[in-house]
Amino acid sequence: MVLLKNKLSRPWIILLYSLESALFLMHCIQTADPKSHCSRPLSRIVRNQLTEQFYNVFQAKNQEPHIKCPLHSSRDLYSVQEGNKIEEYASKWVCNLCGKAFYAEHYLDLHFDNRHSDKLVKGSTVCLADFCDIFRCDVFENQRKDNFWKKKLCKENKLIVRKKRCEALMRSCLPQGNLSVEEEFKLFEEISSNTCSLLNCKDYWELPSNEISPWKVVFYAVVTPFFFMALIVYYYAIWDYYYGDYPLYSNIGSREEEENVSGGYGLTSTHLRKRYGGRALMY
Ligand SMILES: [Zn+2]
Repeated sequence: MVLLKNKLSRPWIILLYSLESALFLMHCIQTADPKSHCSRPLSRIVRNQLTEQFYNVFQAKNQEPHIKCPLHSSRDLYSVQEGNKIEEYASKWVCNLCGKAFYAEHYLDLHFDNRHSDKLVKGSTVCLADFCDIFRCDVFENQRKDNFWKKKLCKENKLIVRKKRCEALMRSCLPQGNLSVEEEFKLFEEISSNTCSLLNCKDYWELPSNEISPWKVVFYAVVTPFFFMALIVYYYAIWDYYYGDYPLYSNIGSREEEENVSGGYGLTSTHLRKRYGGRALMY
């Protein structure tokens, strides 16, 4: 009986074992696939900051970050795909590899995942999103949030550790050999001033001054025309009240009498009033 039971259960054990192996293999493939773990939106936040505050500094000094620097643009996993994005205008994003157009950047990202996954930088292990703690992605991601409690619960010690890591990262990016000590120090100061120096509880939540929330842009774009229209209507109403000419029947009962007094002038000229405080117009 026991033997029969063992014989019956063996295929099930083999099947379960095969299923488990297949699931483990799928998990390994997913883990090994860079696009499955490297967030594009977060990488974009880091990339935007690098473009504005890091690559620019090197370009201004006619220098290049060290080739082994993890922030070097050629090591960015998505650099080839990002280089083939064309933003014609806010709601038209074009894939430069095949010409397809999308109305949002998100859909172009999906298109790259589905159609041009071969354009990921081969052999690169650099996912810019991994540097989010240094480049404060949470602050840029939640620009509309107040972050009151996060500010209150901010731990200076944690940020000091991050700052040290940031400075080590920036040092690894300095071009070696072709700069004087003074030039190297100046370059280090510049590239770390917009990143590492902000890693303290006082400055962590500050956004660059030129960074305006897209929601604010939409709000101002909608509200401003209405505001000016209301202002024009308001001033026109005031002007019309004080300077506008129109018939004023101050005493309807004595209309006939008023016509006689006016000496037979037409209705229009007789009853026109300049409304300076309700007084009749004096000719
Ligand atoms: Zn394409």
